[in-house]
Amino acid sequence: PSENVGEHQESIWVEFGKLAIENKAVSLGQGFPDSPAPKFVTEILKDIASHPEKIESHQYTRAFGHPDLVGILSKIYSYFYGVNVNATDDILITVGAYNALYYSFLGWISKGDEVIIIEPAFDCYFPQVKFAGGTPISVVMKLKEGSKSASQFTIDFEELEKKINKRTKMIVINNPHNPTGKLFSREELQHIAELARNYDLIVVADEVYEFHVSQPKEMIRFASLPGMYERTISIGSAGKALSVTGWKLGWAIGPQHLLSPLKTISQNCVYTCPTPIQLAIARAFQQDWPKFMENPNQSYLATGLPKEVMQKRKILANMLEKANFQTILPEAGFFMLAECKLPMKSFSFSPIVGKDPLDVQYSKWLCREKKLAVIPFSIFFSSKDQKHLSGRFVRLCFFKKDTTLQAAEKIFKTFE
Ligand code: PMP
Ligand code: GLN
Repeated sequence: PSENVGEHQESIWVEFGKLAIENKAVSLGQGFPDSPAPKFVTEILKDIASHPEKIESHQYTRAFGHPDLVGILSKIYSYFYGVNVNATDDILITVGAYNALYYSFLGWISKGDEVIIIEPAFDCYFPQVKFAGGTPISVVMKLKEGSKSASQFTIDFEELEKKINKRTKMIVINNPHNPTGKLFSREELQHIAELARNYDLIVVADEVYEFHVSQPKEMIRFASLPGMYERTISIGSAGKALSVTGWKLGWAIGPQHLLSPLKTISQNCVYTCPTPIQLAIARAFQQDWPKFMENPNQSYLATGLPKEVMQKRKILANMLEKANFQTILPEAGFFMLAECKLPMKSFSFSPIVGKDPLDVQYSKWLCREKKLAVIPFSIFFSSKDQKHLSGRFVRLCFFKKDTTLQAAEKIFKTFE
């Protein structure tokens, strides 16, 4: 393998996905809804598939994104960012947000460039920066002992600023945040904006959970901050927004000068994304967006989705508290961190010192013995020291159907 890639190691999603299936576990692990996809979305794809005579729906479409899709996205994000997002120049459709992230690093990072990553962090940022030849620089958020809200994860901005040097090219900000569920405040985002301006950094704003935010909480998109559109690559996911993660469609949005290298890569790597999927996503947004603006109670994105997620958050939090877990309540998104507070001796679980971090051993034990799949918190950190501080913290996904949550509750009852 090349020096940027290194030895093959299974990602957590590959490893724990297999483990959950092998053990026929109830899964609160990987982040995707396990209930039927929204019918208004799947019906559109059905309609597209039933018209083979519409040639243009089934053949290659425009390289950087189907005109209908970039058209509606330009409308939506022009509104959100308060700038004119040009449909033709400022949007690139990608194979999920993963792909948009990777193009951002490949397009802008040269050997030796540094990328600031705020940890805990979605696990693909580190390897992707390395694949691009860059050096990830971690800034770990602090959490006071006993904190009960994800808002209490905080960035030490002095420390962050000290890590910026001549080689620093980019900062990645994930908001709402996976795995903590933190929603960054305007003040925090403005602080990052100030650093980006002062040190001339590109900001990659991974906002795939932007629609999983319930009022009165406010989703502040980074590109909407004064002057920030010009230096931000915003990343979104149709899979997340419309609850069809298997459709693997995402986008990068930014001014033409920032997107240009991403397009150069994309046209030579995938050329274009699947036409029927792009069309179906475009029509779903076209249907929902007028409701979002004029009749939010009828809109999936404005009300249906955030409401559903919020209800499930309550159910899981109650369940966990009864089962003696200390929860850190998320402000947005669909993940929750929690730590089992029962003494270790009340379980058949006996950790092996010096092996995997405790939470990894604990999560494997939960999956094998209790048939419950969760994600160990430590996988969202890059350094060994941080990994071993994770105790028995795990990340749970609560965007699961009621029967899954009920099955999990039965398992949790054995903890009470
Ligand atoms: N960023 C974050 C923070 C994620 O949690 C995920 C997983 N959905 C992605 C990016 C990748 O999204 P997609 O499935 O659209 O590639
Ligand atoms: N983003 C989702 C999560 O964090 C799924 C990632 C994946 O399956 N690769 O759980």
